[in-house]
Amino acid sequence: MSMNNQGRPTTPEETAATASSTFTGNKALQIEEALSFEIGDVERTGVDLPEPNGAPDRLGGLNRNGIGLPGLTEPETMRHFVRLSQKNYAIDMGPFPLGSCTMKHNPRLNEKVARMPGFGDLHPLAPESAAQGALEVIDRLAYWLTELTGMPAVAMSPKAGAHGELCGMVAIKSALEARGDVDKRTRVLAPESAHGTNPATAVQCGFKVDSIPADDTGRVDLAAMKEKLGDDVAGIMVTNPNTCGLFERDIREIADAVHEAGGYFYCDGANFNAIAGKVKPGDLGVDAMHINLHKTFSTPHGGGGPGAGPTVLSEALAPFAPVPFVVREGDKYKLIETRRAAKAEDGEAAQSFGRLTAFHGQMGMFTRALSYMMSHGVDGVKQAAEDAVLNANYVLTRLKAEMSPAFDGYCMHEALFDDSFLKDTGVETIDFAKAMIDEGYHPMTMYFPLVVHGAMLIEPTESESKRELDLFCDALLSLAKRAKSGDEVDAFKAAPVYAPRRRLDETAAARKPVLRWTPAS
Ligand SMILES: *Cc1c(COP(=O)(O)O)cnc(C)c1O
Repeated sequence: MSMNNQGRPTTPEETAATASSTFTGNKALQIEEALSFEIGDVERTGVDLPEPNGAPDRLGGLNRNGIGLPGLTEPETMRHFVRLSQKNYAIDMGPFPLGSCTMKHNPRLNEKVARMPGFGDLHPLAPESAAQGALEVIDRLAYWLTELTGMPAVAMSPKAGAHGELCGMVAIKSALEARGDVDKRTRVLAPESAHGTNPATAVQCGFKVDSIPADDTGRVDLAAMKEKLGDDVAGIMVTNPNTCGLFERDIREIADAVHEAGGYFYCDGANFNAIAGKVKPGDLGVDAMHINLHKTFSTPHGGGGPGAGPTVLSEALAPFAPVPFVVREGDKYKLIETRRAAKAEDGEAAQSFGRLTAFHGQMGMFTRALSYMMSHGVDGVKQAAEDAVLNANYVLTRLKAEMSPAFDGYCMHEALFDDSFLKDTGVETIDFAKAMIDEGYHPMTMYFPLVVHGAMLIEPTESESKRELDLFCDALLSLAKRAKSGDEVDAFKAAPVYAPRRRLDETAAARKPVLRWTPAS
């Protein structure tokens, strides 16, 4: 197998069987399911509709005919979607050890609140007078986000972490523009261990990305960072705790140095779960930070669900915050929807950089996040952070016996391993991960961060019990022992054997996705 310099396979392993060996293709009670286009036809339907009664056609010849949508009977339709749903691994089925994700239990209370008709059924164009409760939720959540982060302002509308990064970086660009500095300051610094969205966002905003090396403890190399500062630097993007699962100990010094050089500090707040209630990013010199509500404040993502990335802003960036935002006037809430409205009614918001998205953000995430905060309380949010760090260190300590931690010392909310424990065994990170699937575990984050060879990044979150963690650790320890025994390389290369699909060409799937169904001719 050929590998790139992070130890990631560039071509798929040749494996014998890609299809199941049963007659039906089913694996025990896991039923194969074809596309509805393959199994349905235009002759079948699950509903009985009366023949049209001859009402005049008012479509002026624009009616659609014969587009061949597949029909299925009602039981076939139910089975189709239920079978598909069973192919989707979920946090309600088992642990999701993905690092840099905070896949945690989502208390059912939050689901109940999000589905309350007053929130769930409210149309985003409902008049303000009919949406006072929803606006109050946005306002209260905004209050708690600024309180927890120690920041003066928050933009609620960004719809994911990456979208929040865009919000923060556009605010930085606007601030530079207002200062007359935007043409000169074209460089953004980002550590090597940065999540891919950080450099992508900077580039999208027209900046050049300059990568800062990590030191041998897995943190930003402070001296190397200072070397790179200059009057062409717009700012720095740092994740804290970082994607090696480590707290950036020099964060205050990093912030001060960047500020002194005239730049801004964007903090990627995706890992806020590890420090919420313990550290206020405002005290660390942060100018902008997104909060992934779907990570830190529940709502399991990864199943295609929506996200929300409210972005807190410092005094320096707050004037450039996007519209719309909620303001309180007496006992009424109102939305400032346009820059012009802001100018007329709220002098300080006239510099807003404009609108990022339709409507006001992800209401369903807002209700869940506020429900999570209110039910946990300040002490509960703090305890969640402490338990997340405790659980990660428990996993780190137990797995150390057979696996190789990437760095010495304690971790924060996630434990990072490299592939040195697999050295000379013939088993690679990818084989190890595929073997985990056979054991009933979703693999951890693999081959990220890039600063570690063959990385395996495990984030257990606070919501896993000791029993679950022990089972998980036992399974991984047994796999590590088997890998090191040297006689099971073929078994690892063939894994997964019990999954509906075997090894797939994941690179081709990502690079050349087949998104269009074409009928077999
Ligand atoms: C998840 C994550 C992001 C991006 O957040 P999305 O909501 O997926 O867009 C950015 N940085 C880090 C470190 C992350 O873990």
